[in-house]
Amino acid sequence: MTDTLEQSATRGTATRRVDALVVGAGLSGLYMLHRFRGLGLDTVVLEAGGDIGGTWYWNRYPGARCDVESMEYSYSFDPELEQDWEWSEKYPTQPEILRYVHHVADRFGLHDGVRLDTRVASAHFRDRDGRWTVTTEGGEVWDTEQLVMATGCLSTSKLPEIPGVETFVGRTLHTAHWPHEGADFTGRRVAVIGTGSSGIQAIPLIADEAADLTVFQRTANFSMPANNAPLDPEAQAERKRGYPEHRKAARESGFGIPVPAATQSALEVDPEERRARYEATWGRNLVGMLTSYTDSIVDPAANETAAEFVREKIRGIVHDPETAETLCPRDHPFGTKRPCLDSGYYATFNREHVQLVDLKKTPLTEITARGLRTTEREYEVDDLVFATGFDAMTGSLAAIDLRGRDGKRLADAWADGPVTHLGLQVAGFPNLYTITGPGSPSVLSNMMVSIEQHVDFVADAVRYAHERGATVIESTEEAAQGWTDHVREVGDYTLYPQANSWYMGANVPGKPRVFMAYIGGVGAYRQHCDQLAADGYTGFAFSSA
Ligand code: FAD
Ligand code: NAP
Repeated sequence: MTDTLEQSATRGTATRRVDALVVGAGLSGLYMLHRFRGLGLDTVVLEAGGDIGGTWYWNRYPGARCDVESMEYSYSFDPELEQDWEWSEKYPTQPEILRYVHHVADRFGLHDGVRLDTRVASAHFRDRDGRWTVTTEGGEVWDTEQLVMATGCLSTSKLPEIPGVETFVGRTLHTAHWPHEGADFTGRRVAVIGTGSSGIQAIPLIADEAADLTVFQRTANFSMPANNAPLDPEAQAERKRGYPEHRKAARESGFGIPVPAATQSALEVDPEERRARYEATWGRNLVGMLTSYTDSIVDPAANETAAEFVREKIRGIVHDPETAETLCPRDHPFGTKRPCLDSGYYATFNREHVQLVDLKKTPLTEITARGLRTTEREYEVDDLVFATGFDAMTGSLAAIDLRGRDGKRLADAWADGPVTHLGLQVAGFPNLYTITGPGSPSVLSNMMVSIEQHVDFVADAVRYAHERGATVIESTEEAAQGWTDHVREVGDYTLYPQANSWYMGANVPGKPRVFMAYIGGVGAYRQHCDQLAADGYTGFAFSSA
């Protein structure tokens, strides 16, 4: 018999035994809870945050919204849910997605399975009985058979490695820890450091309020107009009628967003035709330009045609030629850092009170009491906004003291970069699963598609094991190494490893430099997983403790 969450809370450090523990109450963790409950497993979700929602709970900066269309970035597991929920915009805002998450949790009765304000500190596998001991920062101890890390790929934020952060006397904000009450910039001098997706979304809105805005750019990024708009009810109804086919197409696509398959090289069409093609995809969606030609992401010359098209757009928007050139990305191929969608980002630099500082020319040297200092001068500001991103894909796992068989530490197993079977399991860490983990399509996809596929895979594997009297599922060393070699090989075939991106771990000093996601395509990956499951879960060993 297991006790209730309330009883457990009052029991202090007494160990509570469950069938399954899920870490993280974002879109992954909530769906995992729903699936495990469907199997009759006593399941609890532990969440560090003060509420459910994950990404959409934490990232509340101005302009925060999805850049995958709302009607694609939503659960597909329940046909009635997808018919009932009404989205208001093509690209939903953070508050709207959070409302959606709450709607789902209410509808499927998930709230009572989530323990909030509970950060997992350690998880140790017990060789003697094949179960996990999980400890929280608050000192609670949990005993579980199955352990799912739904800790998110972009959930451990990072500050810039500049001395003096603590000396600044003004207001400091990070996009991933935005105050719930919002932040008013009216009349203030603001510095934004970082021009990734978060910075690019926030900067135009901060500029609307601030008296003076200075943007500190280390790497110029490729961004396309979102062309966001309210969703026409008729168009929404039409899409809903076609949901089954559309979802299927998304699952079988390369990036989890259905787009026509490319058939030609960018270099075999004449420049005018190519230009017309790019123009047609410009501002349509996140992946259209990237998938225009068969070689867009593998051939430098083909890629350069897309990169130059974007640079021309930037020059066409930004009035000051020097600022425009500074905003033109030149040090990485198009698409090898995650492309951004924006609403008026480049045009913001035409405003009188907005300046751009090129950190490649004048690097930051320190944060002072009054602001920031570069090699050239000091900038005095009232607010410092860090849009400096995340220790992506592995950061939240590395933050937990994770130990598998024989006390083997995950940190040691991954010293040279993550080694996983399908991005789902680590050899030597039985019954531990990483939803959208490194080695899966994950962050290279519409993550909703990848989340549902991983959660379903885990639930099905656990059911398969239990039906056969097994309680332990673990990937073999050979399968994990073989899959990881394949992930690297496919990655190396592309231009992705050329960028100093978070996909490569390049934004975190000392992190192993490997391309962490699987670029073989969402559809191909799913097919591989399905086949392997149909063959009796090739590469996974099942046993009883
Ligand atoms: P998360 O939402 O990150 O949830 C993980 C949860 O685990 C968090 O709540 C965290 O607090 C918790 N956690 C972590 N460690 C611990 C611990 N030790 N103990 C307890 N709890 C812990 N993807 C897209 O496909 N399209 C988009 O347009 C898109 N936009 C994004 C915009 C932003 C600003 C960001 C940051 C990401 C975006 N993403 C987007 C990626 C997004 O993270 C995923 O789409 C999705 O929300 C991930 O859900 P998740 O549940 O896997 O992880
Ligand atoms: P990010 O893409 O990693 O961008 C961080 C920015 O901060 C980069 O410009 C980076 O420069 C800069 N930076 C980091 N450290 C710095 C330092 N020490 N000095 C100066 N500059 C520094 O992070 P993010 O913008 O938060 O986005 C992360 C991911 O979350 C995205 O790629 C996307 O997957 C997701 N996201 C999506 C949306 C959306 O539109 N739906 C919005 C936000 C986030 P370098 O490039 O030189 O490292």
